[in-house]
Amino acid sequence: MAGNSPLVGVLALQGDVREHEGVLAELGIAHRQVRNAEQLAEVDALIIPGGESSVIDKLTRIFGVRDALVAAIQRGLPVLGTCAGLILLADRVTGGLDDQQTFGGLDVTVERNAFGSQVDSFETTIDMPAIGGAPIRSSFIRAPIVRDAGSTEVIATLPTGEIVGVRHGNIVGISFHPEVSNELRVHDWWVRTVVVPSLR
Ligand code: GLN
Repeated sequence: MAGNSPLVGVLALQGDVREHEGVLAELGIAHRQVRNAEQLAEVDALIIPGGESSVIDKLTRIFGVRDALVAAIQRGLPVLGTCAGLILLADRVTGGLDDQQTFGGLDVTVERNAFGSQVDSFETTIDMPAIGGAPIRSSFIRAPIVRDAGSTEVIATLPTGEIVGVRHGNIVGISFHPEVSNELRVHDWWVRTVVVPSLR
């Protein structure tokens, strides 16, 4: 960290790592890929990308970074999970593989692939009151829905009312992919309101 400029890690085991790096680069935010505990210890915040939650889960165990991730999240490392990243941050998952584990941190129940196989991917408008300006349009790709928001704060919903974004302290999870829609405002909001205040 230099001054109030955070170094943001992107968990780079599987998924849309480059898209997140592209958004961070456009925002002028220093970033690096994270694959092991040493790299994790060097970052001020972490993005868990979209991809396949069961695969990312397995790879964190194979690469031996899972315990360090769980500990960092519990210690309050600011984290943003998108789609599979949200699933990995959920305390409870329905529709997961039998041996699928999560890192936890968000007291939510998330339904995996909640839009069904007939609607694998679509784009829609999201209601996210924390972010002003033009409506947020974003992609949902085999996306999860938060079925029970537990003790978390709901930060994003669909026009139909489904919960697609939650926050608990420094942990933010969203079902959608601003990083594939060229939508910079969600990352910008997260860095300004979650990551930077955590550095003080
Ligand atoms: N369906 C994926 C999963 O269960 C998530 C899809 C995504 O990240 N775009 O992990």
